[in-house]
Amino acid sequence: MRLLIVEDEQKLANSLKKGLEQESYAVDVVYDGDDGMAYATTEEYDLIILDRMLPGDYDGVGILRELRNQDILTPVLFLTAMDKIEDKVEGLNIGADDYLVKPFSFDELLARIKALLRRPKVGLPTILKHGELTIDTTNYSVNRNGKIIDLSKKEFSLLEYMMRNSGMLLTKDTIIQHVWNFDSDILPNTVEVYVGYLRNKIDKPFKDSYIKTKRGFGYIFGTEL
Ligand code: CA
Repeated sequence: MRLLIVEDEQKLANSLKKGLEQESYAVDVVYDGDDGMAYATTEEYDLIILDRMLPGDYDGVGILRELRNQDILTPVLFLTAMDKIEDKVEGLNIGADDYLVKPFSFDELLARIKALLRRPKVGLPTILKHGELTIDTTNYSVNRNGKIIDLSKKEFSLLEYMMRNSGMLLTKDTIIQHVWNFDSDILPNTVEVYVGYLRNKIDKPFKDSYIKTKRGFGYIFGTEL
C-alpha cells in the first residue's frame, strides 16, 4: 500500500514516514500545499494523510476539494491542529474520510489508516433496494411498490444510512454519528422523531414494516439479526 503524507511540520512528517515504513507501507512525503497538490493529483495512492494548514497556494482544504472535484476518491485522513467542530465538519463535508486532531498517537493514526484501507475500493452503489423499496442517492428519489415517496434531505440520509447497514442493530448514538456528523445539538430523542417521520412515509401506508425497533437498543432495517 502506498501512502502520501502532506505535512509541513517536517519532524512530524518524517517520523510518521519512518513509523509507517516500519509497518511496511510505501510512503511519500511532501512539505507544502503545492507539492501536495501535484503528488496527490498525478500519482496513485491508496491513502493520503493531509494536514489542514499548509504553506503554499493550496491548504489541505484546497487539495481535498480539488481531488474530489476531479473524482479522485483516494481515502483522505485529514489532520487538524484545531480541535474545533467547524474544522472537522468542513473536512468531512468536502470529502475527507476521517480526521485526527493533533497531537495524536502513532498507534491511533495506524489504526485509522488500517480501517480506511479495509474499506471497499469501488464506489458505493447509488441505487439501493430492499423488498418493495428502492432509493436513488443521486437524485434523492424514493419509491415503494411503484409509489413515489417524498422525503426531506434528513429523512433521506437516515434511510440511506439504515439501508446501507441493513440487518444491523443501529443504536441512536451510531445513527447520530453517521447521519448528523458532529452536530452537538442532536439528542437521541431527535432520532426517534426522525425515525417516526420516516416510518409514516415508507412503512405505515404499506403492509410490511422495514424499520424495526429493538426496544432499549435501537433500530434494525430489514432482516432481523
Ligand atoms: Ca501544518
